[in-house]
Amino acid sequence: MNSIVLGSPLISGVVAMLIVLVVGDFASTFFYHVPQHMWGKLHLRTHHDRRRSYWDHAVLSRSPEVLLDGLLGAVPYIAIAVACTVISVPGAILGLFLGQMHVWWRHTTELGWKSPAWLVRVARMTGLVLPEDHNGHHINPEIEFGDIFRFYDAPARNTIAWLRAISPRRRRAVALRVMRIRNRRGAAALRALKQRKSPTG
Ligand SMILES: [Zn+2]
Ligand SMILES: [Zn+2]
Repeated sequence: MNSIVLGSPLISGVVAMLIVLVVGDFASTFFYHVPQHMWGKLHLRTHHDRRRSYWDHAVLSRSPEVLLDGLLGAVPYIAIAVACTVISVPGAILGLFLGQMHVWWRHTTELGWKSPAWLVRVARMTGLVLPEDHNGHHINPEIEFGDIFRFYDAPARNTIAWLRAISPRRRRAVALRVMRIRNRRGAAALRALKQRKSPTG
């Protein structure tokens, strides 16, 4: 069942694990997290509910809405893991397991987690999201995208800014403003025309 395509089972395992984490986080960020912040309600109502502890939300809660948000965020990782079983079954499973561990760990700021200096250095080199970083996303939902890797933060924010700029609601607002300006100009032109006409006519 375990097909080894990369020579050694160890290398295959590590490659499969890394693909699950890196590609899984990409897919989850751009196909779930960003769309939820743009158009969704579920993630904002659950993950960004300020009234309740987010440790409770991310880890302890059994509310169907919270679980659904977690599950939908995890679907991309699971899909990538299934695909990665052709490289290594244990590696794919390990990737999912580490991903789940990271969910719990990144929500421990509330419990008093403080990353040691060496870990901060490693995280800055590898792009790993620290609990302190993810805490930033809970404080300000407009920043710190990328659940496991911070290199997805900038592209995610750019995508949101771009989507907002082209969103129909925004386009409608711009069109309305243009129409109002045109109407105002039209009315002014009409007034000017009448004034010019009135002495003779
Ligand atoms: Zn969170
Ligand atoms: Zn979010």
